[in-house]
Amino acid sequence: MKKVLFDKKLLKELLEAARKSFPKEMILLLRGKVKKKEIFVNEFVVPPMFFQGFASAGFNPYLIPMDASIIGSVHSHPSGNPNPSVADLNNAYGFVIVILTYPFLSVEDVHVYDRKGEKLIKETV
Ligand SMILES: [Zn+2]
Repeated sequence: MKKVLFDKKLLKELLEAARKSFPKEMILLLRGKVKKKEIFVNEFVVPPMFFQGFASAGFNPYLIPMDASIIGSVHSHPSGNPNPSVADLNNAYGFVIVILTYPFLSVEDVHVYDRKGEKLIKETV
């Protein structure tokens, strides 16, 4: 099982973005490096054709440039449900699905899964 390492400052920015979007969902792409046992996340990218709604947030995956540095995506669950939905798994992009849950305040509100929906270990660095 891979461990997902988040840059501390980046994690703060992601939680802040989720708070600002609330009660709407937000979605961002994540950039980083994939190593043998770890995935390091250090940057976010606003997806093209970004849309936002009360029930869903998403982007058109066909517009994403083939960019190996994009390692996954992050989105918020204003409902507070930490689990990925079927749509989340079907639309997974990259290696990791990061879900931020209300109240978006700390690392406890960050949930990380692989694209099969298996929970991954998260750490801040
Ligand atoms: Zn979701």
